[in-house]
Amino acid sequence: MVELSTGLPPAKVPAHATGVILIDLVRIRANWRALAERVKPAACAAVVKADAYGLGAERVIPALVAEGARTLFVATPDEAAQARKLAPQATTYVLDGLWAAEFLVGIDARPVLSTLAQIEQWASASDRAGRRLPAAIQLESGLNRLGLDEGDVKRLAASPGLLQRIEVALVMSHLACADDAASPKNAAQRAQFDALWPLLPRAQRSIAASDGLMLDPAFHYDLARPGYALYGGQAMPGAAAPVVPAVQVYARILQMREVAGGQTVGYAATWTAPGPRRIATIAAGYADGVFRAASSSNGRDGGIIAADGVRCPIVGRVSMDLITVDVTACTAAVQPGSFAELIGPNITIEEVGRRAGTIGYEVLTSLSRRFHRVYLEAES
Ligand SMILES: *Cc1c(COP(=O)(O)O)cnc(C)c1O
Repeated sequence: MVELSTGLPPAKVPAHATGVILIDLVRIRANWRALAERVKPAACAAVVKADAYGLGAERVIPALVAEGARTLFVATPDEAAQARKLAPQATTYVLDGLWAAEFLVGIDARPVLSTLAQIEQWASASDRAGRRLPAAIQLESGLNRLGLDEGDVKRLAASPGLLQRIEVALVMSHLACADDAASPKNAAQRAQFDALWPLLPRAQRSIAASDGLMLDPAFHYDLARPGYALYGGQAMPGAAAPVVPAVQVYARILQMREVAGGQTVGYAATWTAPGPRRIATIAAGYADGVFRAASSSNGRDGGIIAADGVRCPIVGRVSMDLITVDVTACTAAVQPGSFAELIGPNITIEEVGRRAGTIGYEVLTSLSRRFHRVYLEAES
C-alpha cells in the first residue's frame, strides 16, 4: 500500500495500482444533507442510476440511505434489483418505465410510467397481484423525452377506472433548461406541470433535479431528485449548489522523457515540441474515460492534468491506455511512480468536460472500472 496524499484525507492505494478514483462517501453524505436542507420542507431523493454516476452503487447507496435518503431513482430494472438488495428500506423508482411488470413486482420496485400502455400494463399487474401497485407517472412538460402529454392525461382523466386500479404515488416531470436560471423554459414547464397534475390522483409531486432545486423554491414541490450534485457536480455556472467535490482521480506517471525541439509526440505526430520539453507518459487513456477529444495539437488545446499541483497540458493524441503530458514546468519531484491528478483540487470535473467538448456528467459516468475505487469513510 502507498499513501496518496491529496486534498482529501490520505488514502491507502494498492502498491500495484496505476490508476485510482478516490470517492469520498463522507462528502457525498454531506452533499445529500445540504441539498435536503435546501429543499425543506420538500423531501430529497437520491438519483443513483448508472452505478451511482460511475462511482459504485454498492458503496454509494448504503451511504446515502444511512444519511437519510428514503427514495432512490435508477434508470434500469437491473439497477433497481441491485438498489433493492442494498437498500430494502428505501423506495426505488425505475426511470426507464415498465418493460416486464413481473420483474419489478418481484423486486418490489416502482416503475415511472410514461405511456398509457405502461399504465394499462401496471393496472393488469395490479389486478393479478390483487392489490393496487405503487408507481410514478411522468408528465411531458417541454423536454419531449419521456412522459404523458396533455392529450394522454386528458384521456386518462376521462377514464378514472384505469387509475383506480393502481396507486399513483408520485407525479413527476423533468426540466430541459434548469442549468440556466434565466431561461423562460423553466417557468413554462412548471406552468404545464401545474396544468396537468391536478387532473391526476393526489400524489407526491416532483420536477427538480440537481439544477432545478437551485431555482425558486416553487420548483421543489414535494420531492427533489438530485443526482449529479450529490457527487459534487456543479453544472450551473458559478458553482451555486451547496455541495463540495467528492471525487478525485489519479494515474501514475510511468516514464519521463526529454524531447528536443522539433520532435513529435504521440500517434499521428499531431504535436511537435516547440523547444526542449519534459514529457511524462501517464497510465490513463480513452479506455479509462480520458476522452480522446482531450487530445491536443500545436495551436489546439486539449485536456490538462496536475503534477505536484502544477497544471500541465496533455500533448498529442490520447491513446487507449496512456496520455503524454508536458511537465516541463514541474519540479524534479515529478518522477515515474508518482501520481498525477486527472480530477481533484486543481481540476474540476466540469473543466475536464469542457476541455473535451462535453459535460462533467459524461466525465463521471465514463470513468472506467480499470481505476481502483478507493472509498473514504468517516473514522469509526
Ligand atoms: C438523471 C435524472 C435526474 C437526476 O439529474 P441530475 O441532473 O443528475 O441531478 C432526475 N430526474 C430524471 C428524470 C433523470 O433522468
